Amino acid sequence: MLVNIHTHYKWADSIEIVNGLESSNSPCYYSFGIHPWDSATNDLKIREIENNAHDKFMLAIGEIGLDKVQGPALEIQKSCFIDQVLIAEKINRPVIIHCVKSWNEIVAIKSQIQPKQTWIFHGFSKVTILESVLAEGLMISIGAAILNNTTLQMALLKIPNDRLFLETDDSEITILEIYKKVSALKKLTLPELEEIIENNFKRIFRI
Ligand SMILES: [Zn+2]
Repeated sequence: MLVNIHTHYKWADSIEIVNGLESSNSPCYYSFGIHPWDSATNDLKIREIENNAHDKFMLAIGEIGLDKVQGPALEIQKSCFIDQVLIAEKINRPVIIHCVKSWNEIVAIKSQIQPKQTWIFHGFSKVTILESVLAEGLMISIGAAILNNTTLQMALLKIPNDRLFLETDDSEITILEIYKKVSALKKLTLPELEEIIENNFKRIFRI
């Protein structure tokens, strides 16, 4: 079975975690949180996250994080991020991280909070921070960038299999295309890669 760890659309072609799905008639795994771009807005939604704790379909808090290119002032983003990371600790959910030019700040917050929950760096493409992201213990999720970013293609070989997730994010590329590319680069068969990612999914989300 294919696993799509982070998508903004409901594809229903894999096990998928749909970002921001608030309620659904056909049960589907989702992540819920305040995106850094929206972090100036509401306390209400923060309470809502905690209220979803009983919902077994809410697999993760996310996407949350810091973005120095877009969104409100960094201090506002930091406080919203920290609030949500603390909720994730309280309700035992992994966190899906959005990080744009803010890795040092994310590390600082992580060392301050010392989270027990797994953090997943989604849409990873910044190869220069790979060693540090691995050293900090995060899972790494790779998306459509792997199809033509040759630097990322080379770096993929340095990501241990047990630290890897795959995703489509907001692209219209199918998760199968991403699996095919990654299996070719890692010299794995498609079933071998499927087993690796599915095992990671079961381990991290305790499913
Ligand atoms: Zn996303």
